[in-house]
Order: sequence, then C-alpha cells, then structure tokens
Amino acid sequence: MENFVQILGARGSIPVSGPAYARYGGASTCFLICLGGQYILVDAGTGMLRLPEQVMEAPALSLLVTHPHLDHLQGLTMCRYLMKAGARLDVYGATRGGMGVEAQLRRVFSPPLWPVGVTGFPAQIRFFPIAGGFSIGSVRVEVMEGVHPGGVSLFRLSAGGKSAVIATDCTLTEDLLPKLEIFARDCDLLLCDGQYSEAEFPSRSSFGHSTWTAAARLGLDCGAKRTLVVHHDPNHTDEALDAAADELLQRNPRCGFAVEGERVPL
Ligand SMILES: [Zn+2]
Ligand SMILES: [Zn+2]
Repeated sequence: MENFVQILGARGSIPVSGPAYARYGGASTCFLICLGGQYILVDAGTGMLRLPEQVMEAPALSLLVTHPHLDHLQGLTMCRYLMKAGARLDVYGATRGGMGVEAQLRRVFSPPLWPVGVTGFPAQIRFFPIAGGFSIGSVRVEVMEGVHPGGVSLFRLSAGGKSAVIATDCTLTEDLLPKLEIFARDCDLLLCDGQYSEAEFPSRSSFGHSTWTAAARLGLDCGAKRTLVVHHDPNHTDEALDAAADELLQRNPRCGFAVEGERVPL
C-alpha cells in the first residue's frame, strides 16, 4: 500500500456547506493516514462520512482522537464503517476533564442526545486510553500535549522512515513552539492549525487556535517537507482562503491551505 495522508475534512469548529465552500470543503476535521500498510484516522469530524471505498473494506481501522470537541467527533454518529458487522474500530485517546476516551464517546453517543450508544453499532468499537507514545502495528505514534481549552493531543506518526505530524486545535505559544519544532522536526507532512488571520487573532487568542502565518512559519522552522494549514474558520470562504494563499507561499514555499479530498503522498 502506498503511504499517503488524505484530507477528509479540513473545516474547524463546525461543518459548513454551500457554494462559497466548494473548493476547500465544509466537512469538519478528519484525516486519513495510510502508513505501514494500515489505515489510521485522526479525528472523526464529518469528513469521516466520506471514507474511501478501500478503507471501507478494511477489516479494522484505528482512530486517534486529538480531543473530544464535537467538530472532531460528529462524523462517528453517521459513519458507514460502523454499520458493517464484523468490522472493528480501535479508538485511542487521552483522558480529558477526568473522563477516559470511552466515557467521552459514551456521553456524546447516548439518548436523548443521540439514539444509538457506542455499543449499538454492528461494528465493534474498542477503546485504548493513551498517556504517552504507543505503537499500532509498525506505526509508532508519539504524543505531545498542545495548548487548547480542555487540552489536545498532537500526534507524530512514523513508519519506514516516513512521518506525518498532526497539530490541530493548538495555539502556537512561545512556550510550546520550541518543543513542537523538535517534535515535528523534518517530518514529511505537517498538518497545523491556522484558523485565523493575524488581524483576527488578537480578539480570539484564548480560543485555542493559531494563525496561518504562524503555521507556515512552524513548517519552515521544523523543516517539514510539506505543510498544510487545517481547521479553516467557518467564516472563511474559498475566496478568503484563496486570497491568503499567496501570503502563505511567500512565507513558506512548501505551505498551503488543506483542500478537502486532497491526497498527499508521504
Ligand atoms: Zn476543532
Ligand atoms: Zn477543539
């Protein structure tokens, strides 16, 4: 199997729809990583509704949850993969707000908030609490804590000399940046939160996100071969992101805004 990362959803905070979002897409955060001969999903936003057919056919999938905010979980509620009897989803996530990953999902998937509980799907769901690095088959997953309300896990996935770093829902603070530069050093692909412009950021600095210029700079400083800005603000139309794309390229010639559906070879 070819190594790649596919952007199934790049929108942040809430999914959006309509012609103004046709190019970059409206589905919320979900990334598909094919590495070391297996499929690993990072986050289960509404992009999870569009799993490619070859992924649907896999007997087992892994899902890494960065944090349990709804824009990162909502796709599970209608995920076709979970409708498959005999399929298995292994969910990895950290304790947040005193709740383990299983308790987090049980809260979202429970009547009257949602009619089907986590044990109500034909597919089996297994839960794996994480507190540090771990392995999934031949894929090594390193974890570092980011800066976000309630906390967030940043992931580095590596296998066979290839690596992808996912740093969504994170403010790139002065304290965090030196550690994150080491964590993401020389990765093949960096997916980094860049929800806001520099003009928007001061009034939203406590929301747990970052600017696209800071994301581009991090990609340059850590030596990422490719950097994609993710968690697009729901107010940022295709026109707005296209207008900012030139600024990104000037700061980092290997950086762009993630486009829903795009597949990046590793
Ligand atoms: Zn989010
Ligand atoms: Zn969040």
